[in-house]
Parts: sequence; structure tokens; C-alpha cells
Amino acid sequence: MKQDLVVIGCGAAGLSAAVAYADEVGSDARITVLERATREGRGGATRWTSSWFRVTADRQLDPQFIPLMERLGEGRADLDYCRIYANEVPATFDFLDRHGVPWVYFEQGFANRNTGGGLAMPVPGGVAIVDTLADVIDGLPNARIAYETEAVALITDETGAVTGVRVNGPAGEQILAADNVVIACGGFEGAQDMLTDHLGPRAAELDVIAPTLVNNRGDGIRLTQSLDAAVAGQFDMFHGEPVDPRSDKPDAVIYAYPFGIVVNGEGKRFFDEGADSFDSTFELLGYEIWANQQQSAAFVAEKAILDWPGVTDIVLSDLPPLEADTIEELAVLLGIAPTALASTVAEYNRAIQPGETDRRIRDGKCTQGITPPKSNWATPIENGPFIAWPLTCAITFTFGGIRSDSRARVIRNNGEAIPHLYAAGEVTGLYYNEYPAGTSVLRALTFGRIAAREAASQR
Ligand SMILES: Cc1cc2nc3c(=O)[nH]c(=O)nc-3n(C[C@H](O)[C@H](O)[C@H](O)COP(=O)(O)OP(=O)(O)OC[C@H]3O[C@@H](n4cnc5c(N)ncnc54)[C@H](O)[C@@H]3O)c2cc1C
Repeated sequence: MKQDLVVIGCGAAGLSAAVAYADEVGSDARITVLERATREGRGGATRWTSSWFRVTADRQLDPQFIPLMERLGEGRADLDYCRIYANEVPATFDFLDRHGVPWVYFEQGFANRNTGGGLAMPVPGGVAIVDTLADVIDGLPNARIAYETEAVALITDETGAVTGVRVNGPAGEQILAADNVVIACGGFEGAQDMLTDHLGPRAAELDVIAPTLVNNRGDGIRLTQSLDAAVAGQFDMFHGEPVDPRSDKPDAVIYAYPFGIVVNGEGKRFFDEGADSFDSTFELLGYEIWANQQQSAAFVAEKAILDWPGVTDIVLSDLPPLEADTIEELAVLLGIAPTALASTVAEYNRAIQPGETDRRIRDGKCTQGITPPKSNWATPIENGPFIAWPLTCAITFTFGGIRSDSRARVIRNNGEAIPHLYAAGEVTGLYYNEYPAGTSVLRALTFGRIAAREAASQR
């Protein structure tokens, strides 16, 4: 039967679009959500993310977001889109509340602290978005999630308007006719061929940070190529994170590095660990480990930091650190030349300037005379035992994607919107140079809602 709406993808963007569409047109809407994965493996990146939302206590997107996007995008980021995103964020929280997605707000936001911002997150993370919104779909009489079913092509009529999706599922290939289609099938972090095209052969060294990311294979771009869809976002940049390579746990990120030093395989520092709060620098650290440090680094600190408030909360590996009584012994455990690591630590300790440290703010307690410097939180590493986590970079998501406008319409290279085709979430390109952390899931939810509203207006 012809569908009112087909949604390609079952993460935050797709589920938000499907549920919001039923909100718009009524609970009897005919909706199919396509999910390449099994039911157990559903939810894409959204399933595994902690899903921090970079917001203020009154449910507004961090006011620094638009200036940040303007600066980072160097004229390329779509600021109209960003403004609509910001305006719509409070309504996205209303949507989450209406559908029972549990979430909490913390005052402890760090990167945006000076604008009065904190962090919100669903409880216990993105999986709450997936499970709660999928339950809403399951409870609607004419809506369903088609598991192990992938979109393989878009169907168009002679005017170029989208009229359905060719899918491949347990029953083989079939065409699902639809009034409107929303593409929400994530980035291309799971497509080794596309990663290699855009990042070069060393893309093969990047593991995905969570298992279901392998389903995100750049299909949004592949499906829309023949429709002359435009692209946006930086294709040769990605969001990567410093993870513990010993761990099989998804999202085994080590964020505590501002409270020690990070060294490469030769035992040398290469990064200003205290340049800013970890949520402003972890992407750059991950990228640097991949791009210039042969995927091999380690975070080294005194064991005493584990007693500092909040530090263990920002170590997401399930494995304990390597531990030794001396820096030389720690170096052996890391496979680094002991004299090299000892000399780096000694040089760092000598370069620390006097002053008090305060981990709650950028305290300005820095080093002098070493390269790279450490700009904040420079405290000595001199009393054992000492600890280290090995670090490598894992890919979280790609920046490049299809171009959509502030109404979530997919845009052709000639600037026209493709009739009856919408897109939301990571499949749409937006970011350049750097990703302002805590803005991706909220963007997926928000433009999922906008896509639904626009699609409903085209019935
Ligand atoms: C470990 C981790 C931590 C993160 N931390 C944060 C954070 O704290 N804050 C934040 O804002 N962002 C974070 N992110 C990024 C964020 O999770 C994603 O950007 C966001 O969830 C993307 O949502 P989406 O709906 O666009 O894509 P996804 O959630 O990836 O969903 C894509 C869906 O499409 C399906 N699919 C793909 N191709 C097809 C096809 N051809 N046919 C059918 N289905 C298909 C996939 O199986 C999947 O269900 C994190 C990501 C990860 C992995």
C-alpha cells in the first residue's frame, strides 16, 4: 500500500521524523521506517552516543553555536540553517517531553560555561531516544519499522519529484510508493571506499567508535547522486575521538587528558592538553593522533588524579589504566623508550609556572619554554604511582553529506528543492574544520521534526 511517509534510517533523525509526522497528520498515518540493521542492532550512531546536548538551563542551544559555526565554517557553513536550528531547539525538548524521552540537565557544561550553559542528555543516553521513539512507532496502527531492510534507490516521476523508494529486505526487492521520503541514514563512516576517496589510504587505519556505524555507508549521497543533489560539509574532515585501543567497549573515550600529558609512540608531547576544556579539544586530539602520530599515543598522569572529583566520570574505557611506580616502568608497559618518556616528563615538570590550579575553570596555570605548551591545568607529574591509558583515534562521524536547507528539503546543484524529498541528521553536511561538540543528536532530532512538518504540508 502507498505510504504517506517513508523514512530511510532508524536513528535520532529518522525516528524523530516518523513520530513528528504522526503528530502532524494523525496517529493513523501510513509510515514506514527502513532500518538496515536487525531490531537488536537498530539505531545507528544514536544507539551508542551519550548524546550530550549543548544547551542552557532554559532549553536554548548554546548561544555560542552560531558564532562558532561562522568562525569555523569560514563562510561555508549555512548560517540560516543554523539559526533555524537554534530557534527550534526548545520545541525539540517539548517533543522529547511529549513522547516520554527521559533527559537531564547538568550545570557542569564546560566549553560553554562562560555563556551560562551546561549540558543535557537523555537517560541513559541516545539509546533512550531510539527505544522510546521506536515504541511510539510500534504503538501506531499503520506505522512500522522494517528491519533488515535497506533503501537501494529513490523512485522519481517524469518531473523529477520523488515518489517512492526501492528497498531490499527479507522479502527481496520491492518498491514502496510514498507521498514523501525523508533520508536519515547517517554519514559515510561505515563506507571504506568513500573514506578512502576523501581521507586517503590511511582511512583504513580508522576503526568505527561503535559497531553499528558500519551500517552508515554514505547511502544518502549515493541515492541522491542521480538526482543532482548538492553536497555540503567538509568531506575530508571527520569527528574522531581518542579511545583506549585495548577496549572492545563502544565509545571507550579517554577525556581526562587535560589533567596529565599526552605523548606519542616516541614518548614526546605533541598537543597542548590544556588548550581548552576536553569537550573543545578531543576532536583535534583524535585527529592529530590519526593524522600525524601513526595512531599511537598515551595519556600519562599521576594516579592521584583518579581521586579528583569528576575525573573517573570522563574516562569511558572499561579497562583500568596501566600503572607503575616509576615513569620508566610505565614507559616499558607502554612500549616507549624509558629514557624518552622520563625526559619528556622531567622537561614538562620544569616548565610549569607558579600559581594555583582550579580544574573548574581555564585556570591559566601553564608551562613556559616547551613546545607545545600546556596552557591550563599544568600540574607536576612527579609522585608515583603513575598511570597511562594508550590512545588511538576512532571515527565517530563524517562531516560531508547532502545539502539540505533550513526547511530540511534536499537541494539540487541548481539551488532548487527536490520535490517530496527531505533529509535530516548526519546524512546532511554542515560542519567545517571542527565540530562544536554536543550539537549533532539535537540537530538530528530537530531537523527530523522539521522534515516531518514540511512533508505533512505537502500532502
Ligand atoms: C560513540 C558516539 C558518541 C557520540 N557522542 C555524541 C554526543 O555526545 N552528542 C552529540 O550530539 N552527538 C554525538 N555523537 C554523534 C551522534 O550520535 C550522531 O551524529 C547522531 O546520532 C546521528 O543521528 P542520525 O539519525 O543522523 O544517524 P544514525 O543514528 O547513525 O542513524 C542512521 C540509521 O540509518 C540506517 N541506515 C543506513 N543506511 C541505510 C539504508 N540504505 N537503508 C536503511 N537504513 C539505513 C542505520 O542502520 C541507522 O539506523 C556520537 C556518536 C557516537 C557513535
